[in-house]
Amino acid sequence: MTAPRLRTEPSIAHLDADAFFASVEQAQRPSLRGRPVLVGGTGPRGVVAAASYEARAMGVRSAMSMASARRACPQATVVVPRFDAYTAYSARIMAALRERSDAVEPLSIDEAFADLGAVRPGPGGWPGVARDLRERAVELAGVPVSVGMGRSKLVAKLASAAAKPAGVVVVAPEDEDAFLLPMPVRSLWGVGPVSAERLEKIGVRTVEDLRGQPLDTLTMVLGDAAGSNLFRVARGWDDRPVAETRERKSAGAEHTFERDLHGRAEVAAQLPAVVDQAYARLERHGGAARTVTAKVRFAGFSTVTRAVSLPSPTADRAALHEAAARALDLVELTEPVRLLGVAFSGLSEHAQLMLDLAGPADPAAPGSPAAPDLGGDPGAGADPGAGADPGTDDPDALRPVARRRRGRLRVDDAAPGLDVRHPVHGRGWVVRTRDDGRVAVRFETAATGPGRQIWLDPATEEVELVGALGPDGAELPEGPAEEQPAPGRVSGGG
Ligand SMILES: [Mg+2]
Repeated sequence: MTAPRLRTEPSIAHLDADAFFASVEQAQRPSLRGRPVLVGGTGPRGVVAAASYEARAMGVRSAMSMASARRACPQATVVVPRFDAYTAYSARIMAALRERSDAVEPLSIDEAFADLGAVRPGPGGWPGVARDLRERAVELAGVPVSVGMGRSKLVAKLASAAAKPAGVVVVAPEDEDAFLLPMPVRSLWGVGPVSAERLEKIGVRTVEDLRGQPLDTLTMVLGDAAGSNLFRVARGWDDRPVAETRERKSAGAEHTFERDLHGRAEVAAQLPAVVDQAYARLERHGGAARTVTAKVRFAGFSTVTRAVSLPSPTADRAALHEAAARALDLVELTEPVRLLGVAFSGLSEHAQLMLDLAGPADPAAPGSPAAPDLGGDPGAGADPGAGADPGTDDPDALRPVARRRRGRLRVDDAAPGLDVRHPVHGRGWVVRTRDDGRVAVRFETAATGPGRQIWLDPATEEVELVGALGPDGAELPEGPAEEQPAPGRVSGGG
């Protein structure tokens, strides 16, 4: 295995919002600023989707069960996720990147790579470029973000993690070893708890330990694909380009399961049906693909994608099935699985043309099937090191708020975190609900400063469920749900 040619400047940026969902809540609700906030399922089996830094200081992590999180941090305010608001803030963050580069590759709602190779650094050098980018994203979106830069995606992503919260880290090529070698292997892409344990058994804890291992040892311990991948990663050998991936340059399908799947056999058994569905879409568009991506969303809502690329685009059904199985093999299945997706990308020109002619197909909702982040990025969207707490999910409690009906608040729909309006007190949000149906509402917005809390009875008072506000303070239109619950149904996409 030989070293790829890497760039000589640290011109790949990775921007990642800090505690994104919780930060949006704190931006919009002044009384939550500086306080522990947990976003996630509020039911007895809920999980934490995001924890503010104040809550993290108490040991709370995302994907933890909400019950343990509340025990660790009893003073925390717990709210349900509001994906419509997060989507609007996300667009502002991505805009800061798109001002600087045509090549922006979102990995998830709150993080993206950008190739800044065309930027000419000023007197501040690359650190100055990183600081400007960070400040612009904060200016546009009003939530804290961190920026990492390096000469590869690998280093840029690790650098943004090192920059958190609200910082920038630029790793110059000559400093790369000093940055990488002391890192625990767990912080690397593709190293989950299972791989980490196997590596620990052969005495590998840091990247430096990893670099000391011959290729055949790593492939023996981790398998061919993961072993050779880590061999390269340990050396910083990552020449993947930042891919401006457009939604319709891929065809795919994904399947949300009524009940979480447990274990590889159960997940693998569901794969052919999803591949068939994706293949049907590919065929309709003239069908040949070069890259096959498997996407897995876990019960804790973290998402992992793994891609396998073929030597040339193919329309061969069996070859694509086989590639999808290989891509799925690269995903570590340590948690119950709620969603399985397959996307075909790197389509032949003919296929791309057919897709373009097909016009705007499915709305480009984040998390929609075959969303752009399926661009063949190992570990895209993965949350390295996130502690899993399997078996504690509550998909119902994590239902996108967009799906709740606007209008007069119904007692059954009341949940902490929802936006409401009262004819006298104005706009506020539900802080807590009581068994007798009464709700505590705090009347405040980003523009008002901290507001007061009032107990109201929706049965007798006009409490109206309203849409969230965007970063500009305007109410967001009622949009499509971020994730359609389609139990037992394959939804096409791309
Ligand atoms: Mg983030």
